[in-house]
Amino acid sequence: MSDMTSQDQIPAPSGRMRRKGDLPHKDCAACGRPFAWRRKWARCWDEIRFCSDRCRRTRRAP
Ligand SMILES: [Zn+2]
Repeated sequence: MSDMTSQDQIPAPSGRMRRKGDLPHKDCAACGRPFAWRRKWARCWDEIRFCSDRCRRTRRAP
């Protein structure tokens, strides 16, 4: 048996991947559930109100 510890899995330095906690969140106007920022919403994040297209269609009228 070898006593050396394998270091195949070295923790990547921070910066490459964002943590989920770092992403902004919003509450869906339809289902009320919080949803996280997505890359496809990068340009229109301020306008996003629904977590998905489904909620976008099925939004309730007051
Ligand atoms: Zn929703």
